[in-house]
Amino acid sequence: MMPRAPQRPTGDDRAERDRASAAPEVPSFTLPPCPPAPIVYADANSTLPQAPEVTAAVAAWSGCANASNSHHTGGLAAHAAVEACRAHMASWLRVPPASLTFCSGATEANTTLLRGLALKLAEGGAPRVIAVSDVEHASVLETARALEAEDGFRVIRIPCDATGVVGVPQLRAALERAPRPLVVAIMHANNETGAVNPIADLARYVRGELRSYFMVDAAQSLGRLPDVHPAALYADALTFSAHKFGGPKGVGVMFSQDPGLWRPLLRGGPQEGGRRAGTENVAGIVGATLALDSALRNRAARTEALAARSRALWSSLMSAMTVAGLPAPKLLGPPIEASGARLPNTLLIATGAACNAKLLAHMNTHAGVAASVGSACGTSSHSASHVLLAMGVPREDRRGVIRISLSDRTTDAEVDVIVRAIVAGVAAQAADS
Ligand code: PLP
Repeated sequence: MMPRAPQRPTGDDRAERDRASAAPEVPSFTLPPCPPAPIVYADANSTLPQAPEVTAAVAAWSGCANASNSHHTGGLAAHAAVEACRAHMASWLRVPPASLTFCSGATEANTTLLRGLALKLAEGGAPRVIAVSDVEHASVLETARALEAEDGFRVIRIPCDATGVVGVPQLRAALERAPRPLVVAIMHANNETGAVNPIADLARYVRGELRSYFMVDAAQSLGRLPDVHPAALYADALTFSAHKFGGPKGVGVMFSQDPGLWRPLLRGGPQEGGRRAGTENVAGIVGATLALDSALRNRAARTEALAARSRALWSSLMSAMTVAGLPAPKLLGPPIEASGARLPNTLLIATGAACNAKLLAHMNTHAGVAASVGSACGTSSHSASHVLLAMGVPREDRRGVIRISLSDRTTDAEVDVIVRAIVAGVAAQAADS
């Protein structure tokens, strides 16, 4: 066949090209206003507000040079700051600095490590099997789903008990008759319930008996629980997120015993030893390190104070609901007195309200309280949180569930405001029904 002669551009083509190359008419940009701080912040598990000194350090470093540039003093200073931060974090975590890799948050850390370990370990032709608990964060569950759908992995799910804890009995039962998983992922503390899993015991089974890799999402536990470091938890891989312990959003840390044993997710430049390509977020890493330092100094005293405040809130809420003639609230997750099995700051409460979203809106509008929820109101299995479903929380208790997560800055007076706001919000819905 003869090749077709190129067609001469017509007037229409030229007009189309002119239109495409003309500068777009973009309206001038107006930054949306920064929202005022809530009067009472009870959503620490979502993100912990930054301390002023962290904000100041982030601002000071935000215009710094690229840490990969070794040809001028600015680049060398930025690189030195990143390495000083890595070394300082490593000393808190009692690990070699080279075992820590900076990234954009726990979502990236979980995705990278679960996927990267699974793909690398399967390279020799080992059966493609991984195991994850039912209560993991979406970043783990969705990565597992993608490994199943796109890479031919079988995913074994490990259930929790009725309080949301994943214990050795659940792990053994799920894995006893299954093929050996290459990687097992179980989080340290759950973001919704605050349930703390017995990681070292789980690790002994996974690493000691199964000889599988054990990965732990410690996003909610670092800075809140004692001994959150790889030696105490006996974990091969650990992930953290700076904004959960008072650092900036968009900074995560991956720990791996063997940093060469996972396939990188992001490829490109040689940053982070080739394990995570992309220009390092120097200001974020500096802020994360300062925040970690302050979260881990005097941690024990702060944890005890938080636990006492949460217990006070719970007992005051129970009395206030009774006084108001409302049904007693239920605490979901481990019992309040089981201090070792729960995060000190987290209360997941079945309030008895018909709709949790309306309750939270009422609390926010009428009392300035910022609290949160695992999922929006509704009783269908589509809208209930996967954690409540995994715990087997009955349908009628799933609708009015809210999460109160306190920070070190929460005062006794604020606890009173939170209690009154919950009671008023539940009463308002009861009156409407
Ligand atoms: N893992 C847990 C347990 C979390 O609570 C969160 C955040 O809510 C994440 C992972 C994701 O962290 P990031 O916001 O840094 O992506």
